[in-house]
Amino acid sequence: MTSLPAGIEARFHGLRRLIGNTPLLAIDYTFRGERRRIFAKSENLNMTGSVKDRMALHLLRCAYERGTIQPGALIIEATSGNTGISFAAVGRALGHPVAIFMPDWMSMERVNLLRSFGATIHPVSREDGGFLGSIEKAEELAHETPGSFLPGQFANEDNCEAHETLTGPEIHYQLDSHGLKPDAFVAGVGTGGTVMGVGRYLRSQHPDVTIHPLEPSNSPTLRTGCRVGQHRIQGVSDEFIPPIVDLSELHEIVDVDDGDAILMAQMLATEVGLGVGISSGANFVGAAMLQDKLGSDAVVVTLFPDDNKKYLSTDLMQDEPSKPDYLTPHVELHGFTAFNRVCRICNESEEWLRMMRIPSGEPGPVAS
Ligand code: PMP
Repeated sequence: MTSLPAGIEARFHGLRRLIGNTPLLAIDYTFRGERRRIFAKSENLNMTGSVKDRMALHLLRCAYERGTIQPGALIIEATSGNTGISFAAVGRALGHPVAIFMPDWMSMERVNLLRSFGATIHPVSREDGGFLGSIEKAEELAHETPGSFLPGQFANEDNCEAHETLTGPEIHYQLDSHGLKPDAFVAGVGTGGTVMGVGRYLRSQHPDVTIHPLEPSNSPTLRTGCRVGQHRIQGVSDEFIPPIVDLSELHEIVDVDDGDAILMAQMLATEVGLGVGISSGANFVGAAMLQDKLGSDAVVVTLFPDDNKKYLSTDLMQDEPSKPDYLTPHVELHGFTAFNRVCRICNESEEWLRMMRIPSGEPGPVAS
């Protein structure tokens, strides 16, 4: 393992304070007249407003430690949005230029956010291969650019490790501090880094916990292995099963209709003031479905991967028609409390510093 240049170490130190260690929300609701509670990590509170900040920070940290990235190297990634925004911001914070390949049908907010961080954007049309085309083109540019860095989030195990070493332990400690153990965890699958990594850690502590990947019922990739339809849950269910996803490690897939996800995301904002994205609505619906199967006292945990600001030009802001099989019409949200961030629970203990890979002592100045 290579030790990092002091200035870069100081930059990582600053970023770690803005990424991860999110509150765990305990959301109280009634389903078909029965009072219940679901737990959700507020990943919308990360530096750029999404869970992908965790992956970008950890993956770059690992690359520096292995010596596979040099200061100032061009970072090149294919992404449907949040990953690009995370690499653009975290990459810039560490002093890197960033190039992003993405399908040309992603929301304008995502494109403009990328531009705001100074990233170079390469839109890829459906005719040019859409999502798979973006990955190929990112690989081509990396091949042609000596010294560039290609994170490869779909195949890079560091993506899972980001969640195995932090998101999972955070959930465990936050529940444990209230005398609780998780019965089930569910998360929508984009790269699958979240569900694989959190799953591995929670299983190591709680062998009976069940770990569920979630996908849109109107465009299931995990069940089919390819893209079979259109859906509106940006960030999940791309066009293939990512290499880092091992379905044999996971329990049954949870299917959520994208309309139900939109209605739930709208309800979280209008009823309890939680401005979250469409995949957060899907995750809440999926968690409520699981709880309905497991029993109203089951401790079901999920996360809110991003906030609602990237969806202001999408169907999230339109009237969404309800359908008879939707879950949201049977839900009444009452409010939420938030469990402490882990540093408060561990009181910045040695264990916490080790988990966060924060060296003891004050960081030096940032690299100029
Ligand atoms: N929701 C949103 C909004 C996302 O951007 C992503 C990441 N693509 C996910 C969920 C899924 O996360 P993961 O890539 O860890 O499976």
